[in-house]
This record gives sequence, C-alpha cells and structure tokens, in this order.
Amino acid sequence: MQPTSTTVQLDTYTYSIDTNDQLISFSANWDGFACANESRHLQASHIKEHSLWEFISNRETVALYRELLTCLRDRGTSAGFHYRCDSPDLRRFMHMDISADEQGFVTFVSQVVRTEPRATIEVLLPDAERSEELLVMCGWCKKVRVDSTWVEIEAALEPLQLMDRWPLPAISHGICEQCAEAMERQIEAIQ
Ligand SMILES: [Zn+2]
Repeated sequence: MQPTSTTVQLDTYTYSIDTNDQLISFSANWDGFACANESRHLQASHIKEHSLWEFISNRETVALYRELLTCLRDRGTSAGFHYRCDSPDLRRFMHMDISADEQGFVTFVSQVVRTEPRATIEVLLPDAERSEELLVMCGWCKKVRVDSTWVEIEAALEPLQLMDRWPLPAISHGICEQCAEAMERQIEAIQ
C-alpha cells in the first residue's frame, strides 16, 4: 500500500542563538517537537546556553553552516531551506528560515510542510542496540550512503542488510553532495 500524504497544521518551531552561537531561546512547543522526533536529549532545558556547534558533528556541515551564518550576519538577512526531520514511522518534510538581525542574533524557524506515514524503520529507533559500524545519513535530506550513492533509507535496507542485522549500525550524520551544493548556492545568493 502506498503511504498517503497528510497535510498538517503549519506549526512553527523556533530557536535562537546569540552572537556567540549559544542557544538562548526556544518556542514553547519546542520540547514537544523534540519528543516527536525521538530526540528527548534536545529538550530546551538540556541544551539552553550550550553552543549550537555541540549538536553538529560533521565537519563539512559545520563549515557550511558557519559560512552561512557569517553571510547572514554580515547582510542582516535571511535564507530558507527544505530539509527532512523524520522519525522511524514518519517522513517529515520541513522548511526552515534562518534569519539574522542587526545585532547578530540568529533565529531558526522550522515548519512541518507535510508528513508521510511509513512502516517503522528499525534502524531509526532511538533505543536500538548499536554496533561499531556506521551508517552515514545526510543530516538534511535523510538519505543514507550506499557505496558511492545516496538513497532513501527504505532503498538501503536490502543492500546494507539492515533488516536481519543485530545489533544495528550506529548512525553518523554527514551531508550529501546534493544538499551541500544547495547550501552553497544559497550562500552564493546571499553574498
Ligand atoms: Zn542530503
């Protein structure tokens, strides 16, 4: 059966950083959003006053993000991105606006554009036991790397034998070429 696409209420989820990239404020619905995404460790009380960079591990993503924030602050402007914020049984298609004010404070406003239910993807379950092996996932589009290409997680289950493997590989976030190029284009457009 094909999953049906659902349009949900356009709630927005917001967080802001100060000029030192410290997380300073969150919208009241932030914790509910973190929970829905199986990311209880990202609740506001846990991450407030921490540096944004503690939560982005991939070096290429950090470099692109830093470049973007520098451009936005220099221009006092904003940029918009599409990304995915999936949970094991739901694809969430998101849009995020990142805007810098004249003081250098930056606000990230995310919105769920639409969702698609799907059969539970076990490798995305937050409490699954993990091996030392790594499954590389794009932090933006949530595709995973299979050899030299990036595919939807469903298309990776068979080639990576993710169905009958236990423990499951750990997930390491990176950025795929397509998302990196899209972000570079955005940065160039601001400059
Ligand atoms: Zn990607």
